[in-house]
Amino acid sequence: MDGVKVIYSGLCPICGRDLDIYEITRGVCRHKNLPLYWTPEDKKVDKFLEFFKKAIGEPRAIQKFWARRILRGESFAAVAPTGIGKTSFGTAMALFLAGWRKKSYIILPTTLLVNQVVGYLRKYAEALGIRLNVNEEGEGVTVIYYHSDLKKNEREKFVQLLNERKFDILVTTSQFLPKSFPLLKGLTLSLIHI
Ligand SMILES: [Zn+2]
Repeated sequence: MDGVKVIYSGLCPICGRDLDIYEITRGVCRHKNLPLYWTPEDKKVDKFLEFFKKAIGEPRAIQKFWARRILRGESFAAVAPTGIGKTSFGTAMALFLAGWRKKSYIILPTTLLVNQVVGYLRKYAEALGIRLNVNEEGEGVTVIYYHSDLKKNEREKFVQLLNERKFDILVTTSQFLPKSFPLLKGLTLSLIHI
């Protein structure tokens, strides 16, 4: 992903505008020239934790930590052993950010995991009363997903929605990434979960 400038749209804790890699690296908001900081009053974190409780249950300490870092607009890799809830966390965060009209990309190693994450999204959306569209257009949150076992018509619908940017959450296997790179050009993502 060299040379890709990741912008966290609307997540600067100082000015509320976009955050770019330059600002994150220096730890300074370029619009107000102030250091990027975070206070416990951060409303977005509280809102997310409420959201998480409704969708999944009480968040673990590490999940709260990840939430603060992501919602502060920091770029970071959540390193955790499997079973600690990284995937369910990333899925819930993507759904939360969709409510703020921010796009996320969840990349998974296998078709099985892609189907599992789509299943989580359906479950959480139902618990939260969110209307979810999966590989189709509609009001509410739109999820598009891709793996090699999709039927031809499903694949065509996926490509169309991706090209038209008519989605909030993109879920694919990692195999999809190299061949899809031209399709992703110019896309602003708020969360990339690998
Ligand atoms: Zn700023």
